[in-house]
Amino acid sequence: MTTPALWSAQAHMPSVIGRQIQVVSAKGSYLTTDTGAKLFDGTASLWYANIGHGREEMAKVAYEQMKTLDSYHVFGRYTNNRAVELAEMLVSMAPIDDAKMILNSGGSDSIDVALKLARRYWNQVGCTSKKVIISREHSYHGLHAYGTSVAGLDFNREGYGSDSLVDGTERIDKHSTEAFAEAIERIGAENIAAYIAEPVMGTGGVHPPHEGYFAEIQRLCHENNILFIADEVITGFGRTGTMFASSRYALQPDIITFAKGVTSGYAALGGVFVAPRVWQPFFEQGAASPIYRHGTTYSGHPVTAALAMKNLEILEREGLVERSAALERILAGELAAIESHDLVATTRVGGFLGAIELHDEVQAEWVTDQILDLGFITRPLRGNAVQISPPFITTDQEVRDLVNGVRHVLDDIR
Ligand code: PLP
Repeated sequence: MTTPALWSAQAHMPSVIGRQIQVVSAKGSYLTTDTGAKLFDGTASLWYANIGHGREEMAKVAYEQMKTLDSYHVFGRYTNNRAVELAEMLVSMAPIDDAKMILNSGGSDSIDVALKLARRYWNQVGCTSKKVIISREHSYHGLHAYGTSVAGLDFNREGYGSDSLVDGTERIDKHSTEAFAEAIERIGAENIAAYIAEPVMGTGGVHPPHEGYFAEIQRLCHENNILFIADEVITGFGRTGTMFASSRYALQPDIITFAKGVTSGYAALGGVFVAPRVWQPFFEQGAASPIYRHGTTYSGHPVTAALAMKNLEILEREGLVERSAALERILAGELAAIESHDLVATTRVGGFLGAIELHDEVQAEWVTDQILDLGFITRPLRGNAVQISPPFITTDQEVRDLVNGVRHVLDDIR
């Protein structure tokens, strides 16, 4: 049997060969496949196609930028106008006062930048034992070595010969502040560099924070000199109805990671915002100030930067962050209604992202396959849940139709 050249590294290849869905074009919230099927993008691809697909003005921006300056790096004394403009624009909207930012190529990159920076910072200020990173069970922080190591999804850490690729990681219960206090007690604050969390946990099954959770976590971080890192790779740029979830949940992070929504997926871009406390030791005049040494070839790529700026302009011009907040209310209503279905265990919403958790007798993966036949893309998440997170240009009716699609599939079982 011939096998495809493309190894989809997030797929069980033996089961998907012969059943792969090849997308060939996209417009707005809809995708077209090689068989001509038209599918509603009920997950905004991987939580990122926020302004919708196929915008001509985005294509024009990329074309114009490539003609003017296709690419130039930001190492040493070099920089480029687009990267500089984007950074100024982003820090002006960041939920951290006087932030600096580092650009890179995606969410996993951002996690590496953030977690290495936490350790590098403590080392620089003389707290050389502060190395441990605390994360939450069921969290997802990308799949580079550091993200894999802090991941709370066990299956992502399996098969490497040890529990963690990078030393000094610790996972705690996702809602328990006592678990964090206990970990500090056990490990010692003098050994802990940072705590990292998604403000609304995404891949782990869409878990918004419990009331008061982050306030207490932040208090403990402050009291114990532990950096607080908000992983806003999904939530950044409007997904929770505010530009950043840090504002919605009153977080004051030392570092914020972002990616996805910064370009709505039109280019591979990620980055981190860094608070003054952390960036200052790297900006002081004199030889004692080190180079962070985490530049990558495409940090500050001008085409991706130009696309990000146009994406932000579209979000603003079309009021899409406010629209996301309005869509959350529609989604919450629909999910509340489907909760009474006898095959639904519970539902959760935390912004315009939601999950329908099913009872064990029906598998989320099976449901997502069935609903595809009705023309809707959804995705199975950890905990037997179905992900719903369409683009921000979605209509109220499309949200209703999508949830109704799930209801039809469940009704057919009965
Ligand atoms: N962090 C979070 C919260 C994510 O959801 C993801 C991806 O889904 C990542 C990090 C990794 O981002 P990327 O896939 O762009 O490397």
